[in-house]
Amino acid sequence: MTSVVERLRTGSPVFSVEFFPPRDEAEETILWRAIRELEPFDPAFVSITYGAGGSSRDRTIRTTGRVAQETTLLPMAHLTLVNHSVAELRNVIGWYAAVGVRNILAVRGDPPGDPNGEWVAHPEGLTYAEELVRLCRELGDFCVGVAASPYGHPRSADLDTDTEYLVRKLRAGADFAIAQLFFQPEDFLRLRDRVAARGCDTVLIPGLMPLTTPRTLAKTIELSGSSVPDVVARRLDPYADDPTGFRKAGIDLMTEMGERLLAEGVPCLHFYTFNRSKATREIVGRLGLVPARAV
Ligand SMILES: Cc1cc2nc3c(=O)[nH]c(=O)nc-3n(C[C@H](O)[C@H](O)[C@H](O)COP(=O)(O)OP(=O)(O)OC[C@H]3O[C@@H](n4cnc5c(N)ncnc54)[C@H](O)[C@@H]3O)c2cc1C
Repeated sequence: MTSVVERLRTGSPVFSVEFFPPRDEAEETILWRAIRELEPFDPAFVSITYGAGGSSRDRTIRTTGRVAQETTLLPMAHLTLVNHSVAELRNVIGWYAAVGVRNILAVRGDPPGDPNGEWVAHPEGLTYAEELVRLCRELGDFCVGVAASPYGHPRSADLDTDTEYLVRKLRAGADFAIAQLFFQPEDFLRLRDRVAARGCDTVLIPGLMPLTTPRTLAKTIELSGSSVPDVVARRLDPYADDPTGFRKAGIDLMTEMGERLLAEGVPCLHFYTFNRSKATREIVGRLGLVPARAV
């Protein structure tokens, strides 16, 4: 099985998709429909997020393992530090290896319940994602990714400090970083410039959410930590009460964003899918990121 970085080095731009682990049978059916619909589009990798509770964690391991064993797709498992001792983290990493998963996105995670609440490390755990990168590296031949924040992480004092710690995390052994959501291509490109200005050339991948509904817009505001810029609001506001018009305008916006990022040389666009495939298929089809036989 290849690794994420190998899939990024093909010379042609690619896309990847992110799912969350299903909570019940109905969600499982929806997720697997999306996976099967995306499979012929040949995403570079498929990532599965890691939740705060025990059962959601088991589902991440199970789902990522199924992707490894039952599909042609390359899986990447997310892993967080929340409520885990180092021994437990070693155990989960061992499980990933056992089910054939060699790509890990090492993130810290947020305090369960209140993501903005005080971060308290497990007494025998780790405090920063940087330490998890080192642990993954120590335990085997994993391809390791990390998270980056175009507007700076909300807990960072300023953009300079944020970039400094991001670069430290990348230098701790990360192969690539995936950026949190943002609204304009320049927001991501400025992050890339800040990292490059510190002499770090690790690959940064932009994260995109297809803006198909006001709910996806609200989620982008929440995750990015930014308000909607006027230039985006002007495109979407006229369709507040027109779902079809909103979807079309949002897909157009994301396609234009993708075009600009690809023109700026990004090797991959990472889509947050909410376990649905239609909008992502439409955008990557319009961007020419898929095999001819798939469209
Ligand atoms: C692509 C992507 C995928 C994600 N997947 C998940 C998921 O599956 N599950 C989940 O729960 N969450 C996920 N998250 C959210 C993530 O867990 C949160 O954003 C979290 O608040 C920060 O994680 P991090 O890995 O960036 O933390 P860190 O890199 O540890 O940074 C946290 C804060 O500490 C600062 N910092 C870092 N290192 C140091 C240091 N050595 N000394 C002092 N300060 C330092 C940073 O600047 C930042 O302010 C994801 C985010 C992204 C962008």
